[in-house]
Amino acid sequence: MRKFRRICIFCGSNKGTDPAFAEVARGIGEHLARSGIGVVYGGGKIGLMGEVADAALRAGGQVFGVIPQKLWDVEVGHDGLTELFVVDSMHARKMMMAQLSDAFVALPGGFGTLEELFEATTWMQLGYHRKPVGLVNAGGYYDHLLAFLDHAAAAGFVRASHRPLMLSAPDIVALLEMMAVVEIPHFSLGHAPPRL
Ligand code: AMP
Repeated sequence: MRKFRRICIFCGSNKGTDPAFAEVARGIGEHLARSGIGVVYGGGKIGLMGEVADAALRAGGQVFGVIPQKLWDVEVGHDGLTELFVVDSMHARKMMMAQLSDAFVALPGGFGTLEELFEATTWMQLGYHRKPVGLVNAGGYYDHLLAFLDHAAAAGFVRASHRPLMLSAPDIVALLEMMAVVEIPHFSLGHAPPRL
């Protein structure tokens, strides 16, 4: 059974139209804090990102942000975190977020969230890391995406054996239970890729 010290959260820099999304984000921040799991995230104070971070901090948790200089300069960064790392680029940010974390969890979000979720999954299937990746399908937000991934597997573009590696659950408690036990194969492309 895996234990998680820090989990990387990908989520919207917007709050979405339904206030229920922000409520879910706050619940997740609080749950992680109460479980003694640190939050690693993009360092923003806006949208669901800010909701997760503030809720975790309020509940006494540790929150680590990693933000590119450019976003810090336009003052969307959170200045009340346990630690905020300001880095040079989006690439450096995603690498550092991955290195600091034992697992990746996406909440509802837009292009940025989707890109981060898919990159973490891609890195896993290439053997760059063996850390669980999953999404919280709050209010069915990701139903269409999950259906599309099944379609991509049926069409032969996502390997059937890789499809279950993007875990999904309706809430964080169920997702963490799945993540604790999921078996991640030793993926390799016939060489030894660097590990994160
Ligand atoms: P999106 O889903 O398009 O709102 O993008 C959110 C994701 O991209 C987060 O997980 C962040 O890592 C990153 N991101 C996008 N916009 C910002 C922002 N203004 N401040 C900090 N991070 C952001």
